[in-house]
Amino acid sequence: MKIITTISQMQDHSDRLRDQGDRIGFVPTMGYLHEGHASLIRKARDDNHALVASIFVNPTQFGPGEDYNSYPRDLERDTSLCRELGCDVLFTPSAEEMYPRDNVTTVSVAGLTETLCGASRPGHFDGVTTVVAKLFNIVRPHMAYFGLKDYQQYLVISRMAKDLDMNIGIVGCPTVRENDGLAMSSRNAYLYDDERASALTLFRSLEAAREMVKQGITDPRVIETEVSAVIGSEPATRIDYVSIVDAQNLASLSIIEDRALLALAVYVGEARLIDNTVLEINGKQGTRAGS
Ligand code: AMP
Repeated sequence: MKIITTISQMQDHSDRLRDQGDRIGFVPTMGYLHEGHASLIRKARDDNHALVASIFVNPTQFGPGEDYNSYPRDLERDTSLCRELGCDVLFTPSAEEMYPRDNVTTVSVAGLTETLCGASRPGHFDGVTTVVAKLFNIVRPHMAYFGLKDYQQYLVISRMAKDLDMNIGIVGCPTVRENDGLAMSSRNAYLYDDERASALTLFRSLEAAREMVKQGITDPRVIETEVSAVIGSEPATRIDYVSIVDAQNLASLSIIEDRALLALAVYVGEARLIDNTVLEINGKQGTRAGS
């Protein structure tokens, strides 16, 4: 596995791969890798000739007072894991390499970014779309892989790629969970044992919502209220949002008719955790996205 830290070397390498007709798969991450990341890497490995993963904790997607400095990092372990998983290239630029001077260009997706995490974390998605656009221009992949745990991020990036004619296939991959249902996240490392137990309530509340839909409840407000009550009953939790929206465009819904996204963000101790499920009427819930 080749480790590349500069933009020009990465671009040269990708140009050579493209010249020889290789299809490049790309998995961007912020590191501290877990089985969720590994599932993306395995899928990308299966689908492509060449596989590039990146590790870059992107400062521009963290707001003031958020956890940029304390975000967990372990480059040595991540490097071994990427090697074991069959990555051909690991791209690990520094912040100075990615943002060497005052950048004045921002990539911004309207609409989709105004709700859910976009509403609670102003500027977050501009940071995400700008860095992913830069990474796409550096790695020049044919296909890029994103987790549906970050469902809104997946929609925003898909929209950016489409609107800017990037000609990159954006693949959404199912949420990988611990055996007890907790969605894997690098931020789970922040949790103390008792908080880890409380964090399980996120998954349990999604299950409660799925059960309600199965029983014929289609009023989003009724389900949101119950989900909030389930989460609120656990110590150490503080709800940021619990929201049922249209699964395609994230618009608010007055009734669940077809596919709806139930998304939540909850502080458990210091950690801000997100999770989601797709609620489907007359369908197999949670299997197509974000299960
Ligand atoms: P991050 O390192 O948290 O920025 O995540 C990098 C990529 O891994 C993103 O596309 C995430 O959506 C994805 N990812 C993170 N956690 C999971 C998970 N539990 N299951 C599937 N994908 C995940």
